[in-house]
Amino acid sequence: MKLLALRCPTCAQPLKPQNPEVVVLRCAGCGTAVSITHTGLTTTTIEFAAPDVAKFDGWLPLWVFNGRVTITSRQTQGGNKQAEQDAQQLWGYPRRLYVPAWDLPTAAACQLGGDLVQRQPQFQPTAAPSQGNFVEAVLAPEDALKLLEFVVFNVEAGRRDWLKELHFTIEAEPPQLWALPALWVGGEWHLQPVLK
Ligand SMILES: [Zn+2]
Repeated sequence: MKLLALRCPTCAQPLKPQNPEVVVLRCAGCGTAVSITHTGLTTTTIEFAAPDVAKFDGWLPLWVFNGRVTITSRQTQGGNKQAEQDAQQLWGYPRRLYVPAWDLPTAAACQLGGDLVQRQPQFQPTAAPSQGNFVEAVLAPEDALKLLEFVVFNVEAGRRDWLKELHFTIEAEPPQLWALPALWVGGEWHLQPVLK
C-alpha cells in the first residue's frame, strides 16, 4: 500500500477517512469533495439532491449512470408473458442506473440499486450544504460498473418467471456521484423515505 499525505487539495487541512476503502470524501474544513485513488488525491464533484423534508441526518453517496442495458438472451422456466413484457419495457430505453456507494453489503446494494432502477427517480440538484455529514463513498466508479451487472441480474431474477439464464450488455457513460439525504435509524443509514 502506498502512503499518501491525506491533505485537502484546496485548503491543505488533513483529511481523516473513517473507512480505509474510501474513494470519495468531503473535507471537513472547506467542504471540497476529494477523490482518492492509488495515484493520489484530486478534487471531484458531488451533486447534492434537494431534500423533501427538513430533518435528516446525513448524505449518502450514490453513483448514477446514464446507460442502456440490452438483454441478448433471457431463458426462463416460467413462460410468464407479463414478466417478459416488464423486462422489455424496463430495458427497451436508455435508463438511469444506480449503485449505492457507501459501505453496504453487496446483496443489500444490489437490492437497493434494483429498486431505484425500477423507480427511475430523478434528483433535483441543490447547492452543496456547508453542514451535514457526507458519508464516505467506498466504491470506485469502475467497481460500481461491475456491481451494476448484479443489479440488472437481481432485477431480472426477481420477476415471477423462474429465470434460468440471462445474457445482457451494459453501455454506460461515466457516472455522476450524487449525495442523497438520509436518516440514521436503528444503527444503519436509510435513504430519505420519499426518495425510495
Ligand atoms: Zn479543504
